[in-house]
Amino acid sequence: MLPQIRFTLIETSHPGNIGGVARAMKCMNLSSLVLVSPGQFPHPDALTRSAGAENILEQARVCRDVKEAVGDCIFVAGTTARERAIEWPVESPRAAAKMIAAEAANGPVALLFGRERSGLTNEEVDLCNLLIRIPTGPGYSSLNLASAAQILAYELFLAANEEAKRIDPESVAADHHSLDGFYRHLESTLLDLDFVKSKHPTRLMRKLVRLFNRARPTSEEVNILRGILTAAQNAGRRAN
Ligand code: SAH
Repeated sequence: MLPQIRFTLIETSHPGNIGGVARAMKCMNLSSLVLVSPGQFPHPDALTRSAGAENILEQARVCRDVKEAVGDCIFVAGTTARERAIEWPVESPRAAAKMIAAEAANGPVALLFGRERSGLTNEEVDLCNLLIRIPTGPGYSSLNLASAAQILAYELFLAANEEAKRIDPESVAADHHSLDGFYRHLESTLLDLDFVKSKHPTRLMRKLVRLFNRARPTSEEVNILRGILTAAQNAGRRAN
């Protein structure tokens, strides 16, 4: 999912900022950098500020205009420090990162960063499905370009991890049906092993149910637990 997310820097004037963005990206496992008409690139300042993320600079794609950069993207998000005159959907980095991580499972997504002095033009905003503003104190809202990129990169990294967990069947909590089967199996094992005497150990079972419901085991974990129960029942039978 993260390789599908393109950090797209528009007409960046300071090459050091390009390096700073590359470094921010590398720490957060992002690698796709696109530079739209950069002021000076390649440049030694970009290399210095990238501090170990040279590979991201080497692989960076340079385009002449934004439309070319986002042509194949299924979703475009623009970052902006400014309130815009026209109402546009604006999200926080956290909320936007969730949306972008979900979109990136289906195709390339561009994240636009504007010029140091003037940000994004209205035409560039018009390409966006969504705008993202990093909340700031009231007096000054303009972060350094690489600092803004770092915040977005971090939120995307967390959101992509969450998204990967969500779609990983091994991490999905077991459903009620399989938990119910496990609880009945547990109860019969406790009876078989004479751990409980009463035929309906309701109080104990409720406590155990509470314990397992708190842990929210996955299907795989329930299978392991049931395997242990079966082994205990077999050992109990052999001992009798
Ligand atoms: N004066 C410019 C600020 C440019 S700062 C403006 O009016 O927009 C350079 C870039 O850093 C911005 O275009 C944006 O991509 C990013 N950036 C800086 N501060 C930001 C913030 N508070 N929220 C989102 N992006 C921000």
